[in-house]
Amino acid sequence: MADYDLIIIGGGPAGLTAGLYAARANMNAVLFEAKDVGGEILNTDLIEDWPGEESITGRALADKMAKHAQKFGLKVETYSPVKKVRTEGDRKVIEMEDGTVHRAFAVIVSVGGEPIKLKVPGEDQYHGRGVSYCAVCDGAFFKGADLAVIGGGDSAFQEGLFLTRFAKQLYVVHRRNEFKAQAILQDRLLGMDQVKTITPAVVKEIGGNGDVKWIDIVRDDKVERVPVEGVFIFVGFKPVGRDLFEEHIEHDPTGYIVTDQFMRTNLPGVYAVGDTRQQLAKQITTAVGDATTAVLHAERYIEDLKHVERAMPKAEGRTVAEATRSLRTLRFGAGERVVKQGEIGDEFYIVVRGALDIVHEDDAGKLHIVRSIGEGDSFGEIALLADVPRTATVVAKADSEVLVMDRPTFRRIVASNPEAVEDIYKRASDRLKELRDN
Ligand code: NAP
Repeated sequence: MADYDLIIIGGGPAGLTAGLYAARANMNAVLFEAKDVGGEILNTDLIEDWPGEESITGRALADKMAKHAQKFGLKVETYSPVKKVRTEGDRKVIEMEDGTVHRAFAVIVSVGGEPIKLKVPGEDQYHGRGVSYCAVCDGAFFKGADLAVIGGGDSAFQEGLFLTRFAKQLYVVHRRNEFKAQAILQDRLLGMDQVKTITPAVVKEIGGNGDVKWIDIVRDDKVERVPVEGVFIFVGFKPVGRDLFEEHIEHDPTGYIVTDQFMRTNLPGVYAVGDTRQQLAKQITTAVGDATTAVLHAERYIEDLKHVERAMPKAEGRTVAEATRSLRTLRFGAGERVVKQGEIGDEFYIVVRGALDIVHEDDAGKLHIVRSIGEGDSFGEIALLADVPRTATVVAKADSEVLVMDRPTFRRIVASNPEAVEDIYKRASDRLKELRDN
């Protein structure tokens, strides 16, 4: 058995939303977060693009999201870093940094990323002594100082705005003359008296005497020394989700995990959401949308997996997990026919809910109800195993839902394990006997 249905790794807006939806769906879920819940928004002072809150601090929004998910019963484990995720059959095995191990049917990876470094001399040496990647965390240490923000994206401008509370002079150093930050952020920051741009300019070195005292920049092929006491670097973001996996998880050249529209990765049962997956925007709004989609799909995936395992208990787990991708769900109203005796059959069926009758027509044309079946039962294997027409008709006697497995998938699952072959042939032979006896 798995310890959990679903394990969510990462407690930013995406992870907390996944947790909220999982808890509301009564899934047995846990969220592991390496630090405190909130993720990237904890490093953000004011959030003004979260619908319904004209302006809210990152910390307040994180608290609200966490409380909301926990109110519905989500189990949240903070300061619980995950080390590795691997696959064992149809289970995901989560190894924690402290050595404990958890198993789940599905995993949602919402770990975001980390800041990219400038990789210039002095950056590492002065990290924590004037070099920072988080204005909200460190800005207050620099009251009345001259500061530099490096970068031209949303982060540089948003964090720069926060730094204007403390900076005497704030330089925005960017390698091009145009900035890619949102227009509203540009207007606000560049309209402030104490803000000055240095463009196009590339930082060459960060220096000082124990603490940062200056940066050397290159502009128009000339090196200029700019006296500053703090350097806030926002030159992009490196996703870290794929680092959790030993096996290959599909990613783009910059490391973002590639998913489909349901947030599925190439690994069955593994979903990636938020900033760690490849997509157009890195916004709280898109992250929570990703998470919603992922949970709704994971719920279906887990149910399908459990149904197939119940119907084909000897099959190899990983093959079953992979096979869930090609399953279809069909619904039938009472009285509707699912398969007809004598027809060529190309599919195997697993009953998810409802009740159906297996009806056999004898040589004299007389109909016999062989058996009634319900949730967890399956039918259709004889036609697939023996390449013969359907040996009976199946009719829904109440509104019913079935999972439909195509022939190649059925064959793959049956062939995944010699015991599964034996099991399904035995079942088919029992059923043929049952038909003959009727
Ligand atoms: P970003 O959008 O990738 O911007 C990085 C900036 O750093 C760019 O201006 C880039 O220059 C510059 N840069 C990159 N490498 C550099 C280097 N080696 N030396 C000097 N400059 C360099 O990254 P971000 O601002 O961290 O934002 C990450 C994502 O989060 C974005 O999708 C962003 O929209 C999102 N975000 C959104 C909000 C919000 O909506 N409020 C807030 C923060 C972040 P070029 O322009 O020349 O490429």
